[in-house]
Amino acid sequence: IVSRKNQPDNTVIKVQDCLIGGSAQVMIAGPCSVESYEQLRSVASVLKDAGVKIMRGGAFKPRTSPYDFQGLGVEGLRMLKEVADEFGLATISEIVHPAHMELAEQYIDIIQIGARNMQNFELLKAAGEAKIPVLLKRGIAATLEEFVHAAEYIAVKGNTNVMLIERGIRTYEKWTRNTLDISAVPLLKQETHLPVLVDVSHSTGRKDILLPCAKAALAAGADGVMVEVHPDPQTALSDAAQQLDIPQFQQLWEGIRKSGLFK
Ligand code: PEP
Ligand code: MN
Repeated sequence: IVSRKNQPDNTVIKVQDCLIGGSAQVMIAGPCSVESYEQLRSVASVLKDAGVKIMRGGAFKPRTSPYDFQGLGVEGLRMLKEVADEFGLATISEIVHPAHMELAEQYIDIIQIGARNMQNFELLKAAGEAKIPVLLKRGIAATLEEFVHAAEYIAVKGNTNVMLIERGIRTYEKWTRNTLDISAVPLLKQETHLPVLVDVSHSTGRKDILLPCAKAALAAGADGVMVEVHPDPQTALSDAAQQLDIPQFQQLWEGIRKSGLFK
């Protein structure tokens, strides 16, 4: 279903008044985790002023350590919706349990399936039955073929509004949190008709090389970029090291716009 051979035309996904996979690119930005109303409002107001239409924020956080902040759960989804509605933004948040798809339909606009769950087949099947679009993250050690098969699991259940996002893979490199595989972008665009995005924050785990990485992604044909932004990254409850503060985000956004690669 997701193969370019089966459908030559690009899939274009409509989320509120935003088209993903069409002729224009999209920016998805927001905190790693939903933490408070004040945190969400500071980010939302900046996104609105910048013309960014999709806000991210994790409520169910798949943390490596069970002792780390696990997210605010349903309360986090409610907060995300309340603030997004206030500012006229669309939302994306990670769902980790097959039983939570209806909750997602109620509170968010796009279901994110995280890297650690790329091959959680029961979760993929449940997302395939959901009525809202899905952003599927590439697994930490997934080949592109495995990634495409995971997308097919969703599509075969009826939900063909699937977007793929490269978020870096695990290699021996230590200067970045993961290794951004730019070749994934043209290959996934060639093999599938789905929108392909790049998460520059989780790919690199850094704040200082996001502009060149975002430009590389867009130059390679990406339909959008995801980045983590927090009003006070030092106090963030997750991914403190990689989240941009607001001036850093504004600088990145200006650089992306100036590059001419983002229409
Ligand atoms: C995230 O985007 O919040 C996240 C946990 O990313 P990943 O699944 O790519 O690690
Ligand atoms: Mn994160």
